[in-house]
Amino acid sequence: MTETVVRATNVGKTYMQGAVSVEALSDVSFDVIQGDFVSLVGPSGSGKSTLLHILGALDAATTGTVEVDSVDLNGLSQSKLTNLRLNKIGFVFQAYNLVPVLSALENVEFILHLQGVGKSERRARARETLIALGLEKEIDRRPTEMSGGQQQRVAVARAIVSDPILLLADEPSANLDTQTTSELCGTLRSINQDSGMTIVTATHDPLVMGFAARRIDLKDGEVVKDVRV
Ligand code: ADP
Ligand code: MG
Repeated sequence: MTETVVRATNVGKTYMQGAVSVEALSDVSFDVIQGDFVSLVGPSGSGKSTLLHILGALDAATTGTVEVDSVDLNGLSQSKLTNLRLNKIGFVFQAYNLVPVLSALENVEFILHLQGVGKSERRARARETLIALGLEKEIDRRPTEMSGGQQQRVAVARAIVSDPILLLADEPSANLDTQTTSELCGTLRSINQDSGMTIVTATHDPLVMGFAARRIDLKDGEVVKDVRV
């Protein structure tokens, strides 16, 4: 049986910008099945980040429902949402968001620390994940001692080290050159194919879209196209 990892049903999001309300998402519905690799595509302001944040339980929908792993996020307390984010979801941001004073290893290990994994096991798992992503030499480096591509790989390692069921990536290549973007996307594809991890990435980079199996186009907060590619 195919497992549904994400189900968005009639999702709407309205932001208040001062006294003005902005409808960032309107009536967005789709399912993502286990093992899929989806790119959310649309111009700036079309609602991609808003949607990823809602799928990742970083923000709440104004209307509609989102289920992750068959759990309706609307019904969850803040602490349950925190647990869901920690244990089931990995998030990669455009700006990497690594902790500057921590080494690559410490940045990755930190997530396992939050999960209560003991020191030797979390060290080992963080090392193994960094090595699998080609970062053996960077293990003890801090973010400022690494290139943008290396930092984004560390961010991917941090997002997958806990073996989440869903990896969300918001314009992960926005600050990377073409060569580095290809390498990063190749890595995402391997993660998707080797471990069956479900990936949803927002992008307006055609190179990134080329690696995904399905493309959902947003325009002014609405789904205008949803195709397998
Ligand atoms: P994208 O990621 O596709 O560029 P966003 O989801 O960031 O789109 O934005 C969608 C719309 O929501 C835009 O009109 C944007 O100005 C608005 N928006 C996004 N975040 C906020 C916020 N925190 N407060 C108010 N308006 C927001
Ligand atoms: Mg965005």
